[in-house]
Amino acid sequence: MTPYTAKQQAKRQITLVEVGPRDGLQSEPDVLPTETKVELIGRLVAAGLRRIEVASFVHPKLVPQMADAEAVMAALPRVPNVQYIGLVLNRKGFDRARAAGCTEIGMVTAATDRFAQRNQGASVEETIRAWEEIAPLAHAASIRAQVTVSVAFGCPFEGEVAPDRVVEIVRRLARSNPLEIALADTIGVAVPTQVTALIEAVRAEIPHIPLRCHFHNTRNTAVANAFAAVMAGVDTLDASVGGVGGCPFAPNATGNVATEDLVYMLSRSGFETGIDLDRLIDTAHWLQSKRGKPVPSMVSKAGSFPKHV
Ligand code: MG
Repeated sequence: MTPYTAKQQAKRQITLVEVGPRDGLQSEPDVLPTETKVELIGRLVAAGLRRIEVASFVHPKLVPQMADAEAVMAALPRVPNVQYIGLVLNRKGFDRARAAGCTEIGMVTAATDRFAQRNQGASVEETIRAWEEIAPLAHAASIRAQVTVSVAFGCPFEGEVAPDRVVEIVRRLARSNPLEIALADTIGVAVPTQVTALIEAVRAEIPHIPLRCHFHNTRNTAVANAFAAVMAGVDTLDASVGGVGGCPFAPNATGNVATEDLVYMLSRSGFETGIDLDRLIDTAHWLQSKRGKPVPSMVSKAGSFPKHV
């Protein structure tokens, strides 16, 4: 892979995929009313986010926080060039997301069988087959389809994950022409050198498929990992407003990296994100007041810099 020069970096557009309304809220114990979720998503669109995970189309008994997936989609205004992403794990979920009007679906597989079983009740092979079933249906329906490899940097049950294992999985996933493949540090154990190495290994195998990265700040490495991914040529990162979304395998720890923390770091480094940082910080404060508890992000506490006068 060719490293970017400083001059090229300055012109690069980095897309942030906002996962707060789905991945973030799904991992929190409280359940927000539908109208609050809809307002949150509207505020994120107003701040400049253009790809937003809005709901999970899984069984409501498994994820009660997402039981109103259809109602959220029905209440959202359609905005040109804004993708509302529905998380799906199988054909049934895909059919629901399509019927609800999602313009993009996110599917999930895993790098280890023990994690796939615990998270999705299926083996890695079964989750890959579900992707192979769903991807062509999405393509036929003109729905954007992307897929995530969870625990790509480490597994809470199996420990270290061999990069070769991830490469083997992405090779299979790539055959069904995903919009992109995401590498997820689901439990927040990755470090920057590992991020660089895994991206290089995956790129060598599937140079034609764009990569996205999903980092958790569980051990305070998410912003460093995000920067390593961007410097390795990744143009798209997941993030959650306020950093909402715990880490299911470390109950007292922070989960998703905060969108405003990434926007601050990227824009001050000269990258374009298209996101209004002040509006995003306002949204994090608003969410904090709606939930009645603080959000973990750093930039929402400290504010942006320099101040607009
Ligand atoms: Mg997450």
